[in-house]
Amino acid sequence: MLVAFDDTDSLESMCTTFLATEIIKALRVYDLIGLPRLVRLNPAVPWKTRGNGALCLNLGIGRGECDMVGELDGTPVYSYRRMYEEADRSLVLEVAERTVEKWSRTSEDASPGLVVSDRKPAQALYWKAVREIVRKEDTLQELQRIGADMVGWEGGRGLIGASAAMAWRPRDRTYEIISYRERERWGTPRYLDDISVKEMDLRYTSTFNNFDHRTGRRAISPHTPCPVLFGVRGDDPRELMSAVFSIRSEPPARWLMFLSNQGTDDHLVRGEPDLPNRSYDFMATVIGDPSTVAGGHVIFPVSTSKGRLECAAYEPTKDFRDIVRELRPGDRLRLFGELREEPRTLNVEKMQVISLVPVTRKMANPRCPSCGGPTKSIGSSGGYRCKRCRSRNQLEPLMEEVPRAISPGWYEPPVCARRHLGKPLKRMGL
Ligand SMILES: [Zn+2]
Repeated sequence: MLVAFDDTDSLESMCTTFLATEIIKALRVYDLIGLPRLVRLNPAVPWKTRGNGALCLNLGIGRGECDMVGELDGTPVYSYRRMYEEADRSLVLEVAERTVEKWSRTSEDASPGLVVSDRKPAQALYWKAVREIVRKEDTLQELQRIGADMVGWEGGRGLIGASAAMAWRPRDRTYEIISYRERERWGTPRYLDDISVKEMDLRYTSTFNNFDHRTGRRAISPHTPCPVLFGVRGDDPRELMSAVFSIRSEPPARWLMFLSNQGTDDHLVRGEPDLPNRSYDFMATVIGDPSTVAGGHVIFPVSTSKGRLECAAYEPTKDFRDIVRELRPGDRLRLFGELREEPRTLNVEKMQVISLVPVTRKMANPRCPSCGGPTKSIGSSGGYRCKRCRSRNQLEPLMEEVPRAISPGWYEPPVCARRHLGKPLKRMGL
């Protein structure tokens, strides 16, 4: 039985993944079939909550091989590859509803949604929700078609994300192990040894987005008072587990492994930017010098077949801006980023410099063609006059090529400034 939920967290307190551990606990009579799924959706939707992530669990009686995929307050959680018997729908619905109600913060801008179904919604619902904007009516229509049960609170906008998470059939996938704090520590500073995070990042190469080696800052723990202690992402579930257990920290009360679309670039629309609140992957040519504006953001214009477009590397992208500042008119780029509505600017998330134009600068005035003497510029009329024999010439000045400070290749912002969905260059084998 598939159980999916979304938009249960407000900006500063709860976390939807924690709710997954609560539902698994409350429905202990059943086994997890496959891994719990943490599905990130279009990061550009205007009403997103913190990470815009939805959750989906599959519950039933398992059979055959199973793996330990978590631990909740001292009890191991197993995931089965196959289902022997489906979970009771009304029991799952009743318990999940009660759990969401207990843990969601509906007082703020959250608008939770819960979906229970033994059939998956059409895959198209996922692709639309990760790249575009889905209307609630379309979601409800699809849920009715598959005969799903649903509960929405405060408008139930979360039904959209919940259905999309349930609809996800992974094309590319990653894993995340999230560990949670003991209840009495919630809201207090987290104890987590940065050195051990750094060592983990260097040693377990299939993990990603853990540590910013330039600033010496870890990126695995949130800055909010939520129950999450840390989350580590990776490509190999076994190595991920070893990586997590190598971290020195306060004792976690729970941990759970999720299957996720994080780090897959699933949110990118291939093609030139068109509608706002979507993210694109497209080719462009730089048509002006970059400039740094108030706040430390770096802006540069590109041309696409649809016209001029301003692109931005925002201040949090730190060193990435130094690369962007080196772009010059004529450079060819493949750009990845979100098109904002107002101002209409593309927020660059990653780029490939395809080719760089030669940049030259004037080295000296030409020598006199008659006597070889030095010349000086005549001025606005153009041309040069010999300082020795006074004859004029129309020669070009002597130019030299300036070495470019960047090379063709791939560039991405530091770990702390990346999108959940963005595919790190590390995962692209670069
Ligand atoms: Zn001369």
